[in-house]
Amino acid sequence: MTHTLNIVGGGMAGSEAAWQAANAGLKVVIHEMRPKVETFAHRTGHLGEMVCSNSFRSDDHEQNAVGLLHWEMRAANGLIMQTAAKHRLPAGGALAVDRDPFAESVTAALTAHPNISVSYEEITALPDSGDWIIATGPLTSGTLAEAIRVETGADQLAFFDAIAPIVYADTVNMDVAWMQSRYDKGETEDERTAYLNCPMTRDQYEAFIDALLASDKTEFKEGETAKYFDGCLPIEVMAERGRETLRFGPMKPVGLTNAHDPATKPYAVVQLRRDNALGTLYNIVGFQTKMKYGAQKAVFKTIPGLEDAEFARLGGIHRNTFINAPTLLDSQMRLKSRPNIRFAGQITGVEGYVESAAMGLLAARMAVAQAHGLTLPDVPATTAMGALVTHITGGADAKTFQPMNVNFGLFPPLEGTGIKGGRRNRKDRYKAYTDRAKADWTDWLARTVPVPA
Ligand SMILES: Cc1cc2nc3c(=O)[nH]c(=O)nc-3n(C[C@H](O)[C@H](O)[C@H](O)COP(=O)(O)OP(=O)(O)OC[C@H]3O[C@@H](n4cnc5c(N)ncnc54)[C@H](O)[C@@H]3O)c2cc1C
Repeated sequence: MTHTLNIVGGGMAGSEAAWQAANAGLKVVIHEMRPKVETFAHRTGHLGEMVCSNSFRSDDHEQNAVGLLHWEMRAANGLIMQTAAKHRLPAGGALAVDRDPFAESVTAALTAHPNISVSYEEITALPDSGDWIIATGPLTSGTLAEAIRVETGADQLAFFDAIAPIVYADTVNMDVAWMQSRYDKGETEDERTAYLNCPMTRDQYEAFIDALLASDKTEFKEGETAKYFDGCLPIEVMAERGRETLRFGPMKPVGLTNAHDPATKPYAVVQLRRDNALGTLYNIVGFQTKMKYGAQKAVFKTIPGLEDAEFARLGGIHRNTFINAPTLLDSQMRLKSRPNIRFAGQITGVEGYVESAAMGLLAARMAVAQAHGLTLPDVPATTAMGALVTHITGGADAKTFQPMNVNFGLFPPLEGTGIKGGRRNRKDRYKAYTDRAKADWTDWLARTVPVPA
C-alpha cells in the first residue's frame, strides 16, 4: 500500500508528524513555505526551527506536566525529543538546546528519510482531496488563514491570543471568595453559581491600580500590530486610561453580594470563570495583560482570595493564528466540515513548542491508523497527551477558548489514592498524576503500535 500524507508546515508539529507517519510506512510530503516566504519570527529555512526561546521547558517527568509530555514523546520515538537530547545545553532542570544545530539535525533526519520529501512552497487553499495535516502554526500565512476563515467562519479563527491568567481552582481561598453569577442569572443552580468572585475594598482597589501602573510590562514585538486593541485591552492599559476604568469594566461590583459579608458592598470584584469541563481551572475574566510574568504573580496575589493562588498559566497577548478547535475538530483532530484535513500544533489552540510537537505526533498516528482503515482509540485523558487533545477537541469552553499549555489542571482528579488536595500535598499529587499517566500511556502505545504499510 502506498498512501501519501501531506503535511503543511515543517515547524514543531509538522516535523514530528512527518517523522511519525513516515516511520509507520506512509509516504509523506512536507509543504513548507520557508525560505521562499518568510514569517516575522523565523530566521532560517530549517525544519523544526525554534522561533524564540531555546528551551523545551522543564524536563522533570515526575513533578511537571510538560516534563511528563517529554517522557511520553520519548516513549513514542518522538523526533523532537530525540534531537533535543543530542543538542542539549546545561540549563538546570530545563531541556534547553543549541538551536541552530537542533534545527539542522531535524532537517537532516527528515530529508534523509526514504519516505519523506519536502516541497518548498506556500499552500494557499484548503485541499479538496487527499489526506492532509495543517500544521502552519501561530504565523500561518495570510492566504491560507483567509481560506481557513472562509471555510470555518470569521469568529472561528483568531489572529491574536488574549490570554487571561488561569488559576487552579483548589488554590483559591474560599473563605474570602464566593460562587455567584452576576444578578444570579441562569436556569440552573450550576449556572447561577458559575463564577468565583473576589471582593475588594476601596483601599485594596486603589493599591491594586497602583501596582498595575507600576508593573513591568513586555513590549510588543515587530509584526505584532495593535489591531486587537478594539476588543481586548490589556488591564494595565485600561488602568492607564483612568483609575476607574476597570471598576466600570471587568471589575464592576454590580449584581453581586458577598456571601461572607452580605451587608458590605464590595468596591470592586474580580471574577473568575470556569475554564474546563472538569472545573479544576478558572480564568480571571477580562484580565488579558502584557505584564511580565513575575509582575503578574506579584500583582494578582494582591487580589483578596488569590493570595496563595497557583497559576496554570499566566496572561499574555501575542500574534497567534488559531482555530476554535473545540467547535471545529472531531476527536480524531479532523476538520468536521472536511474530514480529509487534520489540524495539528499551535493552530489547534495548544501553546508551546512541546505541546505543538505533541499534537503533531498524535495527528500523524491518527492519520496512519486511518490509512489502514482503523480508528485510533481515544488517548486516555489521564496522560499529558490525552489531557491536551481532550481539552482542545471538547474539554475546553468553546466560547472563551484561548491557547493552553499542558498543566495538571487538565488532568482528571486522582481517585482512590487517598492523597489530599492543597499546597502541602502537591508533590505527592503530581507524582501520582505522572505515575498514572506513564502507565496509561505505555498501555495505550502498546495497543496502538503504528502498523507498517
Ligand atoms: C513570536 C513567537 C515566539 C514564540 N516563542 C515561543 C517560545 O519561546 N517557547 C515556546 O514554547 N513557544 C513559543 N511560541 C509558540 C509556539 O509554540 C511556537 O510558535 C511553535 O513553533 C509552534 O509550533 P507549530 O509547529 O505549530 O508552528 P511553527 O513551528 O511555527 O511551524 C509552522 C510552519 O508552517 C509554515 N507555514 C505557515 N504557513 C504556511 C503555508 N501557507 N504553507 C506552507 N507552510 C506554511 C511556517 O513557515 C512554519 O515553518 C512562540 C510563538 C511566536 C509567534
